[in-house]
Amino acid sequence: MSWFAQIFGKQKKSPQQIPPLFLTNTLSGKKELFVSQKPGIALLYTCGPTMYGPVHIGNLRSYVFSDTLARTLSAAGYRVRRVINITDFGHLISDGDDGEDKMTKGLRREHMEITMDNMRALAEKYTTGFIDDLAALNIDTGEIAFPRASDYIHEQIAFIATLEQKGYAYRTKNGVYYDTSRFSGYGQLGGVNTSTQITGTRAIQNIEKRHPIDFVLWKPDAKLGWQSPWGLGFPGWHIECSAMSRSLLGQEIDIHTGGEDLAPVHHNNEIAQSEAASGRTFVHYWMHNAFLTMNGEKASKSVGNVMSLADITTSGYHPLALRYFFLQAHYRTPLSFSQEALAGAASALDRLWRLSREIAQESKRASAPSEARARFLAAMRDDLASPQAIGVLWESLKSEEYSPKEKWGLFEDADAHLGLSLLHPPKKALLTDGDIPAAIRELLERRETAREAGDFAEADRIREAIAKGGYRVDDRADGPVLTPTTL
Ligand code: AMP
Ligand code: ZN
Repeated sequence: MSWFAQIFGKQKKSPQQIPPLFLTNTLSGKKELFVSQKPGIALLYTCGPTMYGPVHIGNLRSYVFSDTLARTLSAAGYRVRRVINITDFGHLISDGDDGEDKMTKGLRREHMEITMDNMRALAEKYTTGFIDDLAALNIDTGEIAFPRASDYIHEQIAFIATLEQKGYAYRTKNGVYYDTSRFSGYGQLGGVNTSTQITGTRAIQNIEKRHPIDFVLWKPDAKLGWQSPWGLGFPGWHIECSAMSRSLLGQEIDIHTGGEDLAPVHHNNEIAQSEAASGRTFVHYWMHNAFLTMNGEKASKSVGNVMSLADITTSGYHPLALRYFFLQAHYRTPLSFSQEALAGAASALDRLWRLSREIAQESKRASAPSEARARFLAAMRDDLASPQAIGVLWESLKSEEYSPKEKWGLFEDADAHLGLSLLHPPKKALLTDGDIPAAIRELLERRETAREAGDFAEADRIREAIAKGGYRVDDRADGPVLTPTTL
């Protein structure tokens, strides 16, 4: 059996049965009909975060977007193979050649000695939190490969060696560089701004660099890193995606996603590396989400205006209220975060969950097709138009025109595409303190006391008692969070 057949098993639908799906491709700037390279299979790569701290809700917008894409492909009948890379070392701060490494910064912040083992340990800690956040947002993490960049050093070195051998790389005292002038199609994704790149890196300009937009492939280090043909050091910060994408998905992939900030530099550099090495088209559809903003500014760790999912749940919201909030806007539209908007999303989701319980009873969970379902699917297959799809959902649920079975059918489609637990709704999207039974609150306090005293066996027993009472406890950096489990 080929490795493809082993991984993907049988196709879900014959490719002829798969309905047309349109996606906006950053390469053309246009909505295009999606055609996968292998019939019935969609290969999807999403740029992952650098794990030097907890991810923020801006990052999470990017992963809810790629999940909604994966769900839409899967519901249409594709087998979707997904990869999200985990950057767990040496990610330079700027797009230039230098700057303090983010992981080093993370280690300093946590008063940890700067060693390779500590770097990996720090990254693993935040990776666990990241994957938990994804799961809380109904992202099926079991279906996603999360390769660690540090597990693919050999592949990255081999990749750089290929580029060097083909004449796309040159050596300087400060590392190995990619020669962008050798790659004729450089900058296909647009937005390349050579002047800002020059300004941004002027102070630390490598005088041996041939062109301002050339970028580092291997960065030497006096003490840390891995051995390579170019001495001890670290791979540059673009090469891991090219190397891991090739290792896990092959040389040509269907879709690559990320936030819009990645397109001009990181993704153009990925294209330059991968296409120079393989001589083939690296990615057929590039898709980028717009930013989540806080008070009009991009939510970003360096600006310091970030919130984590734990912040959302500690203030009493179900994580899926955040997912609903994201889906109310199209992925290509900037979205401004506010407590009011989140509260609005939570109460809308509560109403949907209540309606779902009613309709489950009336329909006995039997579904029927309807014109509303067709409109819902058409919206999602038209470049993931989730606001329109949610509009169809609400309008049809309120209408007397549709039978309970037709409405249940709509819930089935909505659940498959939006991932909002509509078929098995949790109790509430917005918790108030009064919603949590006194007995549960008391148990939580006792558990905290046990934990503080170091009695973790007792704390675990209490956690189970809380679970029996219908709540899950998550221990976050800033305290425990209670989430109601599904009914
Ligand atoms: P980073 O760790 O900075 O590489 O970010 C991981 C992913 O989150 C990338 O795809 C970024 O483009 C995306 N991202 C970062 N900040 C935001 C934001 N405020 N809104 C939407 N996406 C973001
Ligand atoms: Zn990437």
